[in-house]
This record gives sequence, C-alpha cells and structure tokens, in this order.
Amino acid sequence: MSIDFLEPTDFSEAMALLSEYGDDAKVIAGGTSVVLMLQQKLIAPNVLVSLGRIEGWDYVRLEPDGLHIGALTHLRDAERSPVLRQFCPALAYTFSVVGNVRVRNQATLGGNLSAADYAADPPAMLTVLGARARLLGPGGTREVPLSEFFLGFYTTALEPEEILTEVIIPVLPETARAAYFKYTSLSAEGRPCVAIGALADFDSDGKCKDLRIAVGAAVETPQRVESAEALAYGQTLTGELVAAISEEYARTLDTLSDVRGSAWYRKEMIRVFVKRALEEVRDGHR
Ligand SMILES: Cc1cc2nc3c(=O)[nH]c(=O)nc-3n(C[C@H](O)[C@H](O)[C@H](O)COP(=O)(O)OP(=O)(O)OC[C@H]3O[C@@H](n4cnc5c(N)ncnc54)[C@H](O)[C@@H]3O)c2cc1C
Repeated sequence: MSIDFLEPTDFSEAMALLSEYGDDAKVIAGGTSVVLMLQQKLIAPNVLVSLGRIEGWDYVRLEPDGLHIGALTHLRDAERSPVLRQFCPALAYTFSVVGNVRVRNQATLGGNLSAADYAADPPAMLTVLGARARLLGPGGTREVPLSEFFLGFYTTALEPEEILTEVIIPVLPETARAAYFKYTSLSAEGRPCVAIGALADFDSDGKCKDLRIAVGAAVETPQRVESAEALAYGQTLTGELVAAISEEYARTLDTLSDVRGSAWYRKEMIRVFVKRALEEVRDGHR
C-alpha cells in the first residue's frame, strides 16, 4: 500500500490537509517515532502530512513572558541553544540525554511531546517548569499547561486537526534551582526507566518556598505528589525531610511494569532519584 507524503509549507495548509483527510492522515515531523510506528504496523495512514518544509518554527527565544521554543526545533538545537542554556541549564541537560545525537538531530520537541510516550525525558522536566503547549487548530490558538496536556499512554489533549506549534516556559525566579535526573536500566542511551524533574526555590534563610517534583517514565503521565511537595514548604531541606519526601513519592505513585523494570523496582528507584534531585536543588545551581 502506498502512502502519500504531503509537504505543506505553512501550518494553515497543514491544518487544511488534516481536515481534508481526517482519520486517513497522520502528522509527521522528524519521523523518529512515526517511522517506527509504520514499520511495526501500529498505524496505517493513507497520507502523511509532513511539517518538515514549514519554515520559521524552529527557534529558541526569550520573550518577556518566558522562553519560547518552536515545535519544529530539533532537540539537538534546543540542547545547544545559548539562550536556553542560560535560561535553565537543567532543561538543556534534559534535552541532551534524549537517546543519542542522531536521534536528537532528527527529533523535534513538538514530536517528542505529541507522541506522549511515557518513557520520555522532556515531559517531566517541562512539567515542573510550568511549561505550556500552544496548539493551533481550526478554531484558532489555545494554550494547555503540560500538566494537562498528557492524558494517558500515547494520548494528549491535541484534537485531531490541531498542531502543536510552540512551548512556552514562564520566567523562573532568580533564586530558583532546577535539576533533571534520568535513570536508565538497559543502556546508557536508552529511554528512561525513571525520569525526575525538580524545581525548588528558597528564601534568604534557606527555607523552601516552592518545590515541584515530577516523576515521568515510571508512570503513565508525568506525576507530581502535592502532599509530598507540601512537606517542604517553609522548611529547611534536612536529610530527614528529603528522605520523607522521597518516601512519600515512592509510596504514593502507581508505577508501571515494562521491559525497563517492574513496578516494585521503579518505586525503589523513585525513592533514590527523588532524593538525589532534592539534594541537587538544595545544594546545586540551576
Ligand atoms: C533510538 C531512539 C531512542 C530514543 N530515546 C529517547 C529517549 O531517551 N528519551 C526520549 O524522550 N525520547 C526518546 N526517543 C523518542 C524521540 O525523542 C521521539 O521519537 C521524538 O522526539 C519524536 O519527534 P519527531 O519529530 O521525530 O516526531 P514524529 O515521529 O514525526 O512524530 C511523533 C508523534 O507526534 C505527532 N506530531 C509530531 N509533531 C507534531 C506537532 N507539531 N503537532 C502535533 N502532532 C505532532 C506525530 O503525528 C506522531 O504521533 C527515542 C527515539 C528513538 C528512535
């Protein structure tokens, strides 16, 4: 069976094609995920609507409301962007540990998020940074916080004719510190078994005034545990408190089992890596 490969040159044209072909069409950006899905016969579209010839949506730029990353930005370009590295080194690091350099040269940020693969790196980190996805559809543009974008396994808030165009990360307080921890159980370049994004902010006495930790890869969608985060508010992150917060994450989350580890093992790793992330945001720099 042949597949038509259509190459619109702007998003309006892409949306019109999605509308015209409906369920027969599939968006393709870098193709690192779509091609595998085609090879494994998980999808069988008649038409691929490629975003590859659409210009002007691969950028990282700082605007008054935060950092804007175009959906067609390759992960490798995001990782190396001086603006992004200055804005949040932990986010640059997050992009730098996705797969390997060949994958990152091809994969786009929009594709990574839209695929909604639970075993991904950027979602947990972007969730704690308060990122929003900007979606373009027939009715116009809307913004969805990433905390509401991932609905389940391989499922997002994107409507059938919508396209993710941009990710916006609000400006972080000067005193905030972020960290990303990726634990791989199979190979160093593999997808995460557990992914931890962390952000903390402290007052001048070293008391915690904001703490956000999102666990990814071990659960269906990136998860924060507010009861655990709340333990930190107004407190110094002592070793005892760090252990209590880590324990609460491990206890609360409904972890999954797959080839990278059992649900039990993932809880053990969550306890270890939430602790490390907390120590990093307490002692390190963003
Ligand atoms: C060998 C290998 C190793 C990998 N390792 C990791 C890893 O360690 N960590 C990690 O996070 N990821 C990993 N990945 C996944 C990789 O990051 C994603 O496949 C990639 O980011 C998807 O981007 P893409 O541009 O190639 O998307 P595509 O494959 O083109 O598309 C992916 C999905 O998103 C949809 N889509 C794409 N762009 C848009 C858009 N702008 N709007 C709406 N829908 C859109 C497509 O229809 C499709 O459903 C790995 C992949 C491979 C092949």
